[in-house]
Amino acid sequence: GPVLGLEASCDETAAALLAPDGSILAEAVRSQLAEHTPYGGVVPEIAARAHLAHLPALATQVMAEAGVKPADLGGVAATAGPGLIGGLIVGASFGKGMAIAHNLPFLGINHLEGHALTARLPGLVPGGVAFPYLLLLLSGGHCQCVAVEGLGRYRRLGSTLDDAVGEAFDKSAKLMGLPWPGGPALEKLAASGDPKRYSLPRPMLGRPGCDFSFSGLKTAVAQAIPKLVTEQDRADLASAFQHVVAAVLADRARHALAMLPAATAMVVAGGVAANQGVRAALAAEAARAGLPLIAPPIRLCTDNAVMIAWAGIERLRAGLADPLELAPRPRWPLDELRAGQPGDAA
Ligand code: ATP
Ligand code: MG
Ligand code: FE
Repeated sequence: GPVLGLEASCDETAAALLAPDGSILAEAVRSQLAEHTPYGGVVPEIAARAHLAHLPALATQVMAEAGVKPADLGGVAATAGPGLIGGLIVGASFGKGMAIAHNLPFLGINHLEGHALTARLPGLVPGGVAFPYLLLLLSGGHCQCVAVEGLGRYRRLGSTLDDAVGEAFDKSAKLMGLPWPGGPALEKLAASGDPKRYSLPRPMLGRPGCDFSFSGLKTAVAQAIPKLVTEQDRADLASAFQHVVAAVLADRARHALAMLPAATAMVVAGGVAANQGVRAALAAEAARAGLPLIAPPIRLCTDNAVMIAWAGIERLRAGLADPLELAPRPRWPLDELRAGQPGDAA
């Protein structure tokens, strides 16, 4: 039967229903942007209460849209970490409750694995992406290059030494007086700017390995701001920032590909993958290596429940259902997952 996916690890409440073959039957996301905007960031206590208020209705909605009854489900997959503990408990407990009530397998999904496996959704790439591939996880909370070698088999090749790339967008945007979340606002402003007018540092460019660092760039933006006079000046600075970030990401991606010579594709995930400048730079880098860039549609790059249901389907197929005692984990690095057998769900 279909698998219900539930996501409540951060500030999006989401539910989705996928057929066993991975086709999407129904999906719903409720952003908590309005609740958190007055505070300029996510407030964990408010997030947990909002998940509690809205998750049951979203789950009911996707089931009704698809005309599926709980008893017809093949399993329930809920994000069990990493993330804010309040929301994780809401999502995992709701999922376990459904599993108990209807005698279904329960899957506690690692949110990062959800992002990592999205590229394998049938319907995204004809035939699906084969292991191994390079994942660039570029969000507000994470910034990593990951070798995806199989189900549950992830090797972190590099990560940020300070801020995540989405955080760098958000902090620089805030310095420039743009509304939170800053990434989309900064991209809009950058569209009318000249990327060459201001010269900003390119942290880590050319360094061995594929770690990232963005705090120096943010400092340079802070120092440039007092000199901005016109709206054009602001647009030029935003454009320079986006240009430099894209160049650094492309450089890091090139090094990461060199560390995974067997890669079949470069895959991006996370909210920053919505940025057109970033996408273009990464597409050029993938093309240089003779590989496709797989960038899921934006709604599947940001937090969603489709990816959680899909990871659940891959795990169910591999016989990796979880016990109901499974405890949510606020910290849960990708390299600590239970793996399938090599060749599982290949
Ligand atoms: P995580 O999922 O890692 O816990 P998160 O919830 O912050 O963290 P996402 O929801 O995937 O991650 O992405 C949000 C981030 O993406 C924010 O930092 C936001 O500014 C950034 N972002 C979204 N759209 C754009 C864009 N067009 N350009 C640049 N950054 C963007
Ligand atoms: Mg989010
Ligand atoms: Fe995420």
